[in-house]
Amino acid sequence: MDLKSLIRDIPDFPKPGILFRDITTLLRDPEGLRFTIDSLTEKCAQFSPDYIVGMESRGFIFGAPLAYKLGAGFIPVRKRGKLPAAVHAIEYELEYGMDRLEVHQDALLPGSRVLIVDDLMATGGTASATAELVQQTGCTLVGFGFIIELRDLNGRQRLPDAPIVTLVEY
Ligand code: 5GP
Repeated sequence: MDLKSLIRDIPDFPKPGILFRDITTLLRDPEGLRFTIDSLTEKCAQFSPDYIVGMESRGFIFGAPLAYKLGAGFIPVRKRGKLPAAVHAIEYELEYGMDRLEVHQDALLPGSRVLIVDDLMATGGTASATAELVQQTGCTLVGFGFIIELRDLNGRQRLPDAPIVTLVEY
């Protein structure tokens, strides 16, 4: 299936000069959605993760069904102040300023196998910060799964040494 034909390009979003890859058109297509989750499952099964860690908010959309299909648990990584119990946190650099990601302290158990999932890798900043959070807790990072990779931004170079699965590249 041609997933690119279901991903919509929106010029100048969220600001001038950025070409946004909109996955909502893929999500609303029943066959496209099924194919995406099935393909991700097929490619990620080899990692035998105990947990899928998904980043707010589009990482939740793909991470939770992947966890279900692989018989793993799902752990949300959220923006500042959203999680109710005690958290581990990591600050990371955005293009302008800093942001902060958080995960529940009792969610990531040392020694468990963790696969990080998000919709898209651009600069790799979000995924590398999440990887640091995962590794700080003593978990084994078994890989990354993305629907889309923007190759020109060289996000792979920022990620720690672990296998990377992607379905679509631009
Ligand atoms: P990075 O941290 O790799 O630079 O950016 C990746 C993060 O920003 C992901 O969480 C992703 O959801 C979001 N993102 C950045 N650009 C796009 C885009 O063009 N389309 C979508 N769907 N998400 C994007």
